[in-house]
Amino acid sequence: MFKTIKDIDNLLKKHTEYRKGCLNLIASENYSSEIVRSYLSSDLGNRYGCYTTEDPSDREYTGNKYIHEIEMNTQKLAKDVFGGKYADLRPISGHMAGMAVVLGILEPHELVIEVSLEDWGHGLVGPMRQVSQFGETIKVEYMKFDQDRAVDAEALKKMAKELKPKLIIFGGSGTLFPEPVRELRQIADEYGIILAYDASHVTGLIAGKVFPNPLNEGADIMFGSTHKSFPGPQGGFIVSNRKDLIEKIGNTLSPSLVTSHHLNRIPAFAASLLEMKEYGHEYGVQIIKNSKALAKAMTKRGFNVLGADRGYTETHLILVDVGEYCSQMPGKLLERAKILCSDDFSGASPQIRVGTPEVTRRGMTEEDMDYIAELFRRVLIDNEDVDVISKDVEAFVAKYQELKYAF
Ligand SMILES: *Cc1c(COP(=O)(O)O)cnc(C)c1O
Repeated sequence: MFKTIKDIDNLLKKHTEYRKGCLNLIASENYSSEIVRSYLSSDLGNRYGCYTTEDPSDREYTGNKYIHEIEMNTQKLAKDVFGGKYADLRPISGHMAGMAVVLGILEPHELVIEVSLEDWGHGLVGPMRQVSQFGETIKVEYMKFDQDRAVDAEALKKMAKELKPKLIIFGGSGTLFPEPVRELRQIADEYGIILAYDASHVTGLIAGKVFPNPLNEGADIMFGSTHKSFPGPQGGFIVSNRKDLIEKIGNTLSPSLVTSHHLNRIPAFAASLLEMKEYGHEYGVQIIKNSKALAKAMTKRGFNVLGADRGYTETHLILVDVGEYCSQMPGKLLERAKILCSDDFSGASPQIRVGTPEVTRRGMTEEDMDYIAELFRRVLIDNEDVDVISKDVEAFVAKYQELKYAF
């Protein structure tokens, strides 16, 4: 148990020092700028800003004079960056944004098609079925992927025609290539299907205009997290060009799922939106260069990197099938070498997911990816002593403590 402030301070300092010495390749994390971090500790973190979805100026609490202005200006900025007519910034996380979309759109017993956990789906709807209230009322099916880990558009079209879902949710936690949103638009119109895009992972790439904007491709709604490839504070957002949908979803979100919407995120998000307007493209271009370079370097060292026939990846991450080398948890072994990434055992063979957002923000480029691939080889293929490797990792990351593409 903590007894004094000093105890808390000490442990926080230890955490910061520890993470400073780690090579962070977790695709769903990022390093935000000092200005973003400082706004998170502003007075807004202790205020309420509840409003009615139809009229954000209709605020339940008093004292919201400037809060309203800050929130509306941030909304405008989000609409500008993501190219949607309407935005809702109240979801406190990407998952919460997705819940609001699912519960706002589906009537009981209607079907949704999403990405399965085995295919690096986030599990927005599937796990909801374990909640007894939803178990029998929410129906879910999963889209199929091809050999190269891209969504099989033809199979999805066929599935949509046969099963007539109410909602299709594109996007997952292991997206390597743009999804066939455009290809599904006509069928969606014919069958009255709503197309949603879960951009949690690729928000930063969309903001940087290096990944197709789903709203331009025909998605009715886009939602996601603000802290993965997008280097903002932790939080969520929803954008759409359809007023009816944004209102329906907003009215589900509030007051059923969110009441205090953690207002300190809002100016922090605004700062990162401005940052992305300024540097997002350059940042996104380098992220993709780094991912491709890492994929090639890992392949050269004997790893089975997925998506080879399509150039491995068009995003901030690569997927590596490590079944040949690892029987136990590769993520935990890599962690002992101070290399952080995600692993997954739900499919036929264990995979690791390696992401480039944070190392790109820290200033790493293509040559550094070659060294990173070498580190992976030493841990997973050569089975070198992880304590020895961790010292090399510390020395390597010590050279990259600045922050690029940031104010
Ligand atoms: C991370 C993730 C989420 C959840 O976002 P949080 O901000 O962690 O709540 C939702 N969908 C996908 C595809 C994700 O990768």
